[in-house]
Parts: sequence; structure tokens; C-alpha cells
Amino acid sequence: MSYEPELQVLNPATEEVVATVPAATAADVDAAVVRATKAQAAWAALAPGDRARLLRRFATAVDEHLEELARLEVREAGHTVGNARWEAGNVRDLLDYAAGGVERLTGRQIPVPGGLDITILEPLGVVGVIAPWNFPMPIAAWGTAPALAAGNAVILKPAETTPLTALRLAELALEAGLPEGLFQVLPGHGHIAGRALVDHPDVAKIVFTGSTRTGREVMERGARLVKPVTLELGGKSPNIVFADADLKTAVDPFSFLDNSGQDCCARTRILVQESVYDEVRELLADALSAVVVGDPADEKTQMGPLISRQQLDRVRSFVPDDAPALRGSAPAGPGFWFAPTVLTGERHDSEAAREEIFGPVAVLLPFTDEADAIRLANDTPYGLSGSIWTRDVGRALRVSRAVRAGNLSVNSHSSVRYWTPFGGYKQSGVGRELGPDALAAFTETKNVFISTEGPAQ
Ligand code: NAD
Repeated sequence: MSYEPELQVLNPATEEVVATVPAATAADVDAAVVRATKAQAAWAALAPGDRARLLRRFATAVDEHLEELARLEVREAGHTVGNARWEAGNVRDLLDYAAGGVERLTGRQIPVPGGLDITILEPLGVVGVIAPWNFPMPIAAWGTAPALAAGNAVILKPAETTPLTALRLAELALEAGLPEGLFQVLPGHGHIAGRALVDHPDVAKIVFTGSTRTGREVMERGARLVKPVTLELGGKSPNIVFADADLKTAVDPFSFLDNSGQDCCARTRILVQESVYDEVRELLADALSAVVVGDPADEKTQMGPLISRQQLDRVRSFVPDDAPALRGSAPAGPGFWFAPTVLTGERHDSEAAREEIFGPVAVLLPFTDEADAIRLANDTPYGLSGSIWTRDVGRALRVSRAVRAGNLSVNSHSSVRYWTPFGGYKQSGVGRELGPDALAAFTETKNVFISTEGPAQ
């Protein structure tokens, strides 16, 4: 298969070309790794306080360019401007939070007989971050910020469709004073630049976010070099609504429509206790018809387009025109538009109910009791996220323990906070990002034993 030497970035709301960007080759990856290796050695040798200061300056630079970054994200990814501002702010916050960890990245002193035992957390070296298109800025920063803070260099490969904000972040890093070569962005094709990063013997770790299919390949190829990988993969998360819940809040359609449903944590399986099924159905129908879908640059817009024609075709393939469904509205072309949709005639084991659609489409399914809800919630190869809605605290805790997923919310639809660990069970991933342990994931633990025995008498 041949690949274009340039990536064409389209505005998903208009299909106009926003930019063309050269695609990195395997040789470009090799050269970047040489630069990164050199920069990393100097970076790790800096005093921790100096590294922290430079990362804070990077955070400030992002903050000062927040509106510019947000507008760029609107153009290349079709995100609503409100979401895009939050995303740029999230990069700033991740950098600040990671900077706070640089001077607190401590090892341990472990009691042992005959001496003193200490552990030292050392940087890995060069880390490869491979990002998807659905949240180009935050997901790039989830890996990059803690990796840099722990003393590593980072090579970031953004998704083919969304390289522009990543490239701008690399410029801002340099302007803020980060050393040349420490944080490099290489836009390129997954099968060329992505693979070259995974296969490179001097890239010490890969942080991959994307589909389960590609994640599996990254893990297989990484295994040849016994390379550690963090994988943040797909999801098909439940929204479990018990009859005693505050139904109006529980059925918020933005639990699956945010970012046009292109969200790994989207609650796309709405599981509703059968006694309130009809009420929920009506609430959802009203809510969907009120969603404002349109120009993502308009402050009033609540949902923008899908990322690409390919994604639009994929979403359409799950929703036949005659499928029983509740539907909102969407503009006609140009642009990659799909109306908010809830499928109401699916079985729990149908394709639409089991596969990640990655668009503004959910399925509505009834359950009988708590045991049935847990069974349905777990009946998927994924285990990323989910919500549990009930006023019964005991039940909330029982169900939270029983659902096999990495990030659950009780009486809330939120999943991601940079203060708390994030990652998937089952085929949703391997490893955790964010939270207080984020920096440690980018270190090797070295154990040193120092004997206190005197010389033999
Ligand atoms: P994708 O797997 O197609 O691509 C992700 C990245 O991997 C891109 O940068 C791509 O160029 C690169 N890539 C492709 N083939 C590669 C290869 N052989 N070797 C190395 N790199 C390769 O995924 P996508 O369509 O861009 O993103 C959507 C997916 O991401 C969804 O499944 C979604 O659930 C998942 N996602 C997961 C999380 C999470 O945290 N769990 C977050 C966001 C998105």
C-alpha cells in the first residue's frame, strides 16, 4: 500500500482544506530519536527545580495562546469552541500538575538487615506518544506532560487528520525555553511513522491511545523488544439508570453526544430499569430534539460534525434509515454531519449494542433488577467507563464494585479528571494515566543496597 507524502487537514464542518503537512518517514523518526536522546540526557541532568520551572513556563505559554489553540482545534477537528477552550486549558493544567511532581518524585528507603536500602526513580529515556484524533490536545498531553516531568524526552505522533494543534504546542514549548529536541512532534501515517516509533530500539516506552485493533498491534510489535506500553483503547460504556434515580439528570444526552460521540468514555449503552423505561424514552426524545447541531465555531452550538467522511460512513453503517430510533437533527452537507440518535429496537447482543460506533449514537436497553443491570453492563469486551444512577448508596457501591471498568461515576457523567487515575479494564487498555502516580509510569525503579557491615575482622 502506498501512502501520500503529505497529510491533508480538512475542516470537518466545511470539507475545506485547512493545511497540508509533510508526513514523517521512518528516517525522520530515526533522526528525531537521535535528537531526543541527546536532549534527554541534558534534561535529566538539570536540577529538578529548573525542570519544573520550564514546564510551568510551557503551561503559561499554552495559557497565553489558549484562544488560538482552541480556534485551531475547531478548524481541524470540528470541536465546538467551548469544548476546544476546555481542551487547551486541560493541556495547561496537565503541564502545571506534572510540574508540581518534578520535585516530589521520590524513591523509598526500605528497612533491611545489614545495611540501608534505597530506591531511585530514573527516567526511561525517549518516550513515544501516539495520539488519536478525537481529543488531539488533551490526549497528547496526558502522556507528554508526566513523561517530560519525570525526566524523559517525548516524540509525539498525532493522528493523520489532526496534526495542527500538536505542531503548535511543540512551537510553544520551544518559545517557553524547553530545550531543542526534548519535545518533538512528527505528524505521519500510523503504518509508517507510528510503527517506526514502536519498532525503534531506542524508544523506551510507547503510550498509545486509539482503537483496540491498533493497540493490539502496538502491543505485539512492542513485545518483540520487550518494550513497555500503556494502551488507552476503545469503550462501549453503560449508563445504568435505576428507577429511583433523578431521571432528568441521568438521561442527559451529552453523556454520549459530547464531541459528537467521538469519546472513548461515551455512555452509549443506556440501560434503564424497565419500570421507568417509557419515561426515560420520552425524556430522551425531547432532549434529542433540543440539541443544537451546527457550526462548531458558533458559541451556541452544542454538537459539531464528525471528524471525516470515513467516520461518517462508519456511523451510518450502524443506523439503517428504517431502524426504530429517537432522532435529533443535523445540517445537510458539506461537512460530516450525523444527527443525534438513540436506537430503541436493538437486542443487547446486536452489533450496534456491542461495538464501539464512535458517533452520536446510543442504544436504549431495559433491565429488570440489579443483577440483570450488572450482567448487561459487563456483557462487552470493553471496560473503560460508565455511570450508575440511584439514590441508594449501598446499591451505588455494590454496582460500582461489580462493574468491570476503570472509571465509574455515581450520579454523574464525568470520567476524566487530571488528578485521578484513568484507564481501562479488559480490551479497553493496559496501564493507567493521569493522577498522582502519572510520573512514576515514566520511570524505572532502581534498587540500591548499601552495606553497613564493617570490614571483616
Ligand atoms: P487509531 O487506532 O486508528 O489511531 C490512533 C493512532 O495510532 C493514530 O495516530 C494513528 O496514526 C496511529 N496508528 C495507526 N496504525 C498504527 C500502527 N500500525 N502502529 C502505530 N501507530 C498506528 O484510532 P483513532 O481512530 O485515531 O481513534 C479512535 C479510537 O481511540 C477509538 O477506538 C477510541 O475509543 C480510542 N480512544 C481511547 C481513549 C482512551 O483513553 N481509552 C481515548 C480516546 C480515544
